Amino acid sequence: MRLVDSHVHLDDSKFDADREAVIERALAAGVACMMAIGTGHLETAIRLAERYPFIVATIGVHPHDASKTTPETFARLRDLAAHPKVAAIGEIGLDYHYDFSPRDVQRAVFLKQLEIAAEAGKPVVIHSREAWADTMAMLGPPHRGIIHCFTGDPQQAREALALGFHLAFGGVLTFPKADAVREAARITPEDRLLLETDCPYLAPAPHRGQRNEPAFVIDVARRLAEVRGCTLDEIAAQTTRNFERLFERLCLRREAVNG
Ligand SMILES: [Zn+2]
Ligand SMILES: [Zn+2]
Repeated sequence: MRLVDSHVHLDDSKFDADREAVIERALAAGVACMMAIGTGHLETAIRLAERYPFIVATIGVHPHDASKTTPETFARLRDLAAHPKVAAIGEIGLDYHYDFSPRDVQRAVFLKQLEIAAEAGKPVVIHSREAWADTMAMLGPPHRGIIHCFTGDPQQAREALALGFHLAFGGVLTFPKADAVREAARITPEDRLLLETDCPYLAPAPHRGQRNEPAFVIDVARRLAEVRGCTLDEIAAQTTRNFERLFERLCLRREAVNG
């Protein structure tokens, strides 16, 4: 069985003490590929991706950090977008829950990065929290990409799917109160489903409250299989195939990694 964790923050300081062991556990659990999200310092995910053949990177400015951008940030993003292991621009979007950056600045920085992604021909990884209507309005034309940590209802799922997005489900799918999210996961076409952990955040049951890690993506996969009335193997095959199609087989196969 091969799984993909489409959203990891392995550069987070919470992994500084045991990053190698965390990666080993992921491989042992069947995780064949991980997408490292590069926020904060733009290059941190690329460094991980250069080191490990089964990690691909994204680059982007998180909405939390929108007010820290300068013209140089966007020039750097344009340059880095050409790096062979940069799979996508992300995570980018809007976060009106924390409002760490003013909303008009968040929108301007989001728009700028959507333009950079379009120029570079790269998919986008979207973060949207308590900002659904504005996010959808800004995404307008059809897009290749992921709504990461999808926690919306079936109607919101349909809106994102109509724009061409894949929906990535994570730990929230396993939370007791997340019936609407599970219903959204049930109605999503099988060729638009992805798995993620968003580690170190949002650990799925039965690890809830602990530091999350990529090996736990199997718990999300198991729950998704239950929700959709299929087997774990089927979910693994569907979501891995979807990831490989979306990112043009950027990830090496496990066999190649070991060889
Ligand atoms: Zn996010
Ligand atoms: Zn994230």
